[in-house]
Amino acid sequence: MGYDKVTVPENGEKIRFVDGKMIVPDNPILTFIEGDGIGYDIMTASKRIWDAAIDKAYHGQRRVAWMEIYCGEKAASVYDGNYMPEETFDALREFKVGIKGPLTTPVGGGFRSLNVTLRQVLDLYQCIRPVRYYNGVPSPLKNPQEIDIVIFRENTEDIYAGIEFEAGTPEQAKLEKFLREEMGATGFVPGSGLGIKPISEFGSKRLIRAAIRYAIDRKRKSVTLVHKGNIQKFTEGAFQRWGYELAATEFPEQTISWAEVEKHHGGKVPEGKVLIQDTIADIMFQKMLLRPSEHDVIATTNLNGDYLSDAIAAEVGGVGIAPGANVGDEVALFEATHGTAPKYTNLDKVNPGSLLFSGVMMLEHIGWFEAADLITRAYERTIERKIVTYDFARQMEGAREVRTSEFATAVIDNMSA
Ligand code: NAD
Repeated sequence: MGYDKVTVPENGEKIRFVDGKMIVPDNPILTFIEGDGIGYDIMTASKRIWDAAIDKAYHGQRRVAWMEIYCGEKAASVYDGNYMPEETFDALREFKVGIKGPLTTPVGGGFRSLNVTLRQVLDLYQCIRPVRYYNGVPSPLKNPQEIDIVIFRENTEDIYAGIEFEAGTPEQAKLEKFLREEMGATGFVPGSGLGIKPISEFGSKRLIRAAIRYAIDRKRKSVTLVHKGNIQKFTEGAFQRWGYELAATEFPEQTISWAEVEKHHGGKVPEGKVLIQDTIADIMFQKMLLRPSEHDVIATTNLNGDYLSDAIAAEVGGVGIAPGANVGDEVALFEATHGTAPKYTNLDKVNPGSLLFSGVMMLEHIGWFEAADLITRAYERTIERKIVTYDFARQMEGAREVRTSEFATAVIDNMSA
């Protein structure tokens, strides 16, 4: 398809899907959105590292053809004030895989969050947040190396559906009347603001299915369904029930529930099976501090996942290095999980870790594991040598604080160390 402002690289080929399977050429076109604020600094540094690792791992046999697409402030300057041009969606649909820096959400004026719009329009229903410890990274925990968790957060339902009615409005009054008079729901203060939380079987199952497939493919030990089903029986409770049901019907050979393990296997998970277990959301926060090694892949509803992913990320280095991805059936958009940190714009100062590791996830997504591992190891070596950006430098004794670009050079140098 033809594009107005986007230049499609001539030296690259499209990633395609055939019968639901992704076909990745050796010179895939990957899209990137630079991002606002610190976006330029972290994207420039990270692209140097990704390219160096790919070159080193595959000796020129594989190479990314980068294609810039636009969103946010840069889009507004390229497309005459349009923050979210239609051809950005078209390019993501056509080229399937992309990575983005942080985007400013202008406050007020009925402006929808660009991030939320991208997820909704492209139906990116899985928010995937791996959280693991890298040697040398400052952490408040005694044993942070026990954390190696991948969170699958449902990305389209729950209170994020935005079905809310403000106190004092005619809509609220109408709904309140309906609830009291027709549904017999009387246990709330008259005139309360009202919110509705939709959780569907379709939405829950497609998210849990993706989490279980990931656990099977990556040889993970368990999938924990995290929910608040003790209070919200027909939304959170149903999520849990649908999860067990799905595992039993679609993955009977590869998975086993905790109830079966106790009943038939003396409490020991049989070799080669992924354990399906569940936990109430509030207890999960305690477990993530006290016994994180008992959990592996987590599948959870939207709001629980929102809280949990930031809380667990804070245990192993915080938003500066936590990566993320929003994934649909074909389109996958990897992203830095922090914001635009506007006061650091173009200072060449911030930590590129979050975007860098989102790119590592992207390399794993397309099956380029060798390049991904090279980056992870070189990053660890760099941190162990205490070469870090300002945010880690202030938490580490004896650290050498470097600029974003210098940090990238150090990681690249450490690929051959
Ligand atoms: P922020 O994440 O931009 O910054 C908060 C603080 O975190 C910064 O001042 C800085 O101290 C630290 N920080 C963030 N990224 C860092 C990095 N890479 N290295 C080191 N330190 C880092 O959050 P905010 O100030 O609340 O939001 C600023 C803007 O970003 C807003 O417009 C907001 O809407 C937007 N935002 C975008 C995304 C996204 O694109 N996914 C996410 C959150 C916020």
